[in-house]
Amino acid sequence: MPDGESVETYLLTNANGCEIEILSLGGIIRRWIAPTSEGQDIVLGLDTVEAYLNDPCYFGAVIGRYANRIGQGQFSICDKTYSVDVNQAGHCLHGGSQGFNKRNWIVESVTANSLILSLKSADGDQGFPGNLLVKTHYSLDERNCLRIEYSATCDEDTVYNPTQHSYFNLNGHDSGSATAHFIQVYAEHFTPGDATALPTGEIRPVAQTPLDLNQLCKISDVLSSDYEQIQLANGIDHNFCVNGYSPDTTDVRDVGRILSEEACLELSVRSSMPGAQVYTGNFIGNDLGKDNCRYGPNHGLCIETQHYPDAPNKKHFPSPLLKAGEVFSSVTEYQLNVI
Ligand code: BGC
Repeated sequence: MPDGESVETYLLTNANGCEIEILSLGGIIRRWIAPTSEGQDIVLGLDTVEAYLNDPCYFGAVIGRYANRIGQGQFSICDKTYSVDVNQAGHCLHGGSQGFNKRNWIVESVTANSLILSLKSADGDQGFPGNLLVKTHYSLDERNCLRIEYSATCDEDTVYNPTQHSYFNLNGHDSGSATAHFIQVYAEHFTPGDATALPTGEIRPVAQTPLDLNQLCKISDVLSSDYEQIQLANGIDHNFCVNGYSPDTTDVRDVGRILSEEACLELSVRSSMPGAQVYTGNFIGNDLGKDNCRYGPNHGLCIETQHYPDAPNKKHFPSPLLKAGEVFSSVTEYQLNVI
């Protein structure tokens, strides 16, 4: 790290040959080896700490304090207004310019199949209120399921909305466009965005739109649509209101899946969070990725479980408020199935 601290790497493994390499920097998932005979690496990533510290894509990182956007970087809690770092198109994106993806997390415990990372985010960090203590617990099981448990407490009322920003390409991170993959998302509604990708506040039915992903859809078919929301976002970059959310449980429910017929592999996602940002990697630049590989737009697909973007300013969205002294917990699972 620039201050001389060293970044550690950890490997979670199981008996099926699944391997997941995670960095203390940003809790970044740098490599994810599928339990197939080919053993392809299914996540996009980078080779150096420096590259990760300058990464505009947030490859594989844990995002905090607030995944996705907070409009104009402003919100209020109990009539007190907070201004947080504005780092993209006039909004706060993924927690601000020094988000959790750029911190070297503390390693609390590590075994062959689990890793617990923690972080202290001081009062005023990127403008957010309260001293926030967070943990991210990764564990890999013998069903090839990576379970991620997020928890946090704060000494003041604040907002917290963590996610994991892995870009998946089930054919292998170096295999080019992922638009031949199929996707399914269990959501009857989504939150349309404006030209800066900020939710307008509308909760729109997906029915009769190309964002109805309730049945398996081929990504290239969705992307070729002239639907105004797809055009505005340059692809899919939308928050889906995943069916069946309850604020009272950390039980996971089905969010969706991506599937590659070529790789005979499916990744299914389950979560306790209310929403999921489906992002088709529309803005992946042509910079060098790991192993000297050149990535480009749509080479990776993200399903980022989350609170709805800009929920601190949209009182009709599920609340991301974390009250002083209360415990935040959420769970997201990514499971690989050979099909
Ligand atoms: C956002 C995109 C953004 C990407 C990389 C996604 O979560 O929805 O708009 O470009 O992250 O920052």
